[in-house]
Amino acid sequence: MDNCKEIQSRIESFEHGNLSLKDEEAFTNHILNCADCREEMEIYYIILYGLDDDNEKSIENSSYSEYLDAFDFTGLVEQKLKDSEARCLFLRQWSHFTRVRYLFVTAVVYRVRYDKRRRKLHRYARHAKKVQEMYRREEKLKA
Ligand SMILES: [Zn+2]
Repeated sequence: MDNCKEIQSRIESFEHGNLSLKDEEAFTNHILNCADCREEMEIYYIILYGLDDDNEKSIENSSYSEYLDAFDFTGLVEQKLKDSEARCLFLRQWSHFTRVRYLFVTAVVYRVRYDKRRRKLHRYARHAKKVQEMYRREEKLKA
C-alpha cells in the first residue's frame, strides 16, 4: 500500500477505524510524509465536518472540536495522524505483551498437564508392581 491513490481510497476506512493495524501504520506513515495525500485528507474532513451545518459530528468527536471550531483542518489531520501513531504503537506493544503472556500461560498449562500425566503413570506403575508382587506371592504359596 504505497501509492497515493490507494492511500487516498482508504481515508474513509481510516476515519471509521476499519483498517488493520498493519494498514493503518502504512497509511499514517505515508500521509505523514506525503503532502498530496495529507491535502486530500484535509479535504475529506472539510467535506465531512466543514459542510455539516448542525455540527453534530463535531460534538461527537469532542477531542477534535477545538480544531473544528477553528476550521483548522491541517491541525485536525495532524492530530488524527498523531493519535493514530500512538494507537498503533500501543496496539503493537499490547499485542506483543499478550503474545508473550499467551506463550507463558501455554507453557505452564503444558507443564501442569505433563506433571499430572507423569503422576498418573507413577500411580499405574506402583499399582502394576503391587499386582505383580501379589501374583508372585500367590505363585509362591502354590509352589
Ligand atoms: Zn501520497
